[in-house]
Amino acid sequence: MNLTSKARLFLSLGLMGAAMPSIAADEKAKEPSPAAAQTAKPVSPAATPASPPAVKAPAAPVAAKPANNPDQDMSEALVKKINKSSGDIVLRSSDLPPPFPVPKAEAKPDVKVEKKAEVKPKEPPKAEPIVITVKEELIATPIPVPEIPWTYADGPGGPNNWANLKKENQLCATGKMQSPINIITDNTVKGNLNPIVFEYQPFLLSLMDNGRTVEVSARGGNNILVNEKRYRLVGIHFHKPSEEVFNGERAEMSVHLEHEHHDGSKVIVAVMMSSSSQLFAATEKRRWWSTASEENPLFQIILSNVPLVKNQASSPRNVVINPLQLLPEDRTYFTYMGSLTKPPCTEGVIWIIMKNPLIVTAQQIHSFGQIYTNNFRPLQSQGDRIIKEIR
Ligand SMILES: [Zn+2]
Repeated sequence: MNLTSKARLFLSLGLMGAAMPSIAADEKAKEPSPAAAQTAKPVSPAATPASPPAVKAPAAPVAAKPANNPDQDMSEALVKKINKSSGDIVLRSSDLPPPFPVPKAEAKPDVKVEKKAEVKPKEPPKAEPIVITVKEELIATPIPVPEIPWTYADGPGGPNNWANLKKENQLCATGKMQSPINIITDNTVKGNLNPIVFEYQPFLLSLMDNGRTVEVSARGGNNILVNEKRYRLVGIHFHKPSEEVFNGERAEMSVHLEHEHHDGSKVIVAVMMSSSSQLFAATEKRRWWSTASEENPLFQIILSNVPLVKNQASSPRNVVINPLQLLPEDRTYFTYMGSLTKPPCTEGVIWIIMKNPLIVTAQQIHSFGQIYTNNFRPLQSQGDRIIKEIR
């Protein structure tokens, strides 16, 4: 076959229209025109990927079928036709081997990349425990909460919640030596011990209605001796009814005289206040006293001088009181180890509870009741503590 017949053959192949341009394009790329060469140099990598990426991706499929070269296939098909026929030769697409599986190979890498991109964002949420740490910090930071004042009434500030109001009040709930307690007179340890020595003397009255009781501030020079240890009188206040309980019975009122040593240890002397000679009638000790109801002069001075405004100390001019007037004549007593009967419920307090009451009038009890009533702490467990009774 000569060159002219080959040329005719190519021209008559309508199919070649598709194959020829790609060949021509390849040849043009290999032999760029001077103008194209100048512009080609500055072209950045981003501008070139028009065709090369498609060639790189199908690397695997091409390797699987290395003989699948379109030019070579074409020539082989032509040679076959030429050998079989004479005259014009028509080459159809069915005479060629299957085309390149290029398009499918391109899609696969793209999909894989996308899937990986989707999986990655799902992992970071595992690091979320950091959020919990932040919350803990928020809890740890002290949040200013309005302080609930302690009260004698049930409620948020009541005796059952004293320990929750402040960290320092823990003993109010957990203490084993708390006060007040019910003194069962049959269960005391009776003995002959030293009497309390009261070194009291008159002093100028200074008092305050502190919102929970009426409190007298003591002045220097008023002390007691308990087992040869001297305690200074620091304050006098009142409860209605009495916090002290004898055999399950309360008195109408009681007075507490608080004393403190230099080392901080405390002694509280408690005296029942009664307007009735029938107090404790159910007990064997009902004849501890026989005095008829009469007005207590010192208690009357205090009632007369209670300030009209709460939480303001008052020092009436030239009013002198003598704390000895708050003690019964017979000063025999019960004693046990207890605590403050108000927050923070500090323990290690020596209680001296007079067996005999202070006699007052019903009017005086009634008058105090106009200021405070039910300002007492509920009874606490005696536990394994002993109560001594001084005969
Ligand atoms: Zn008290």
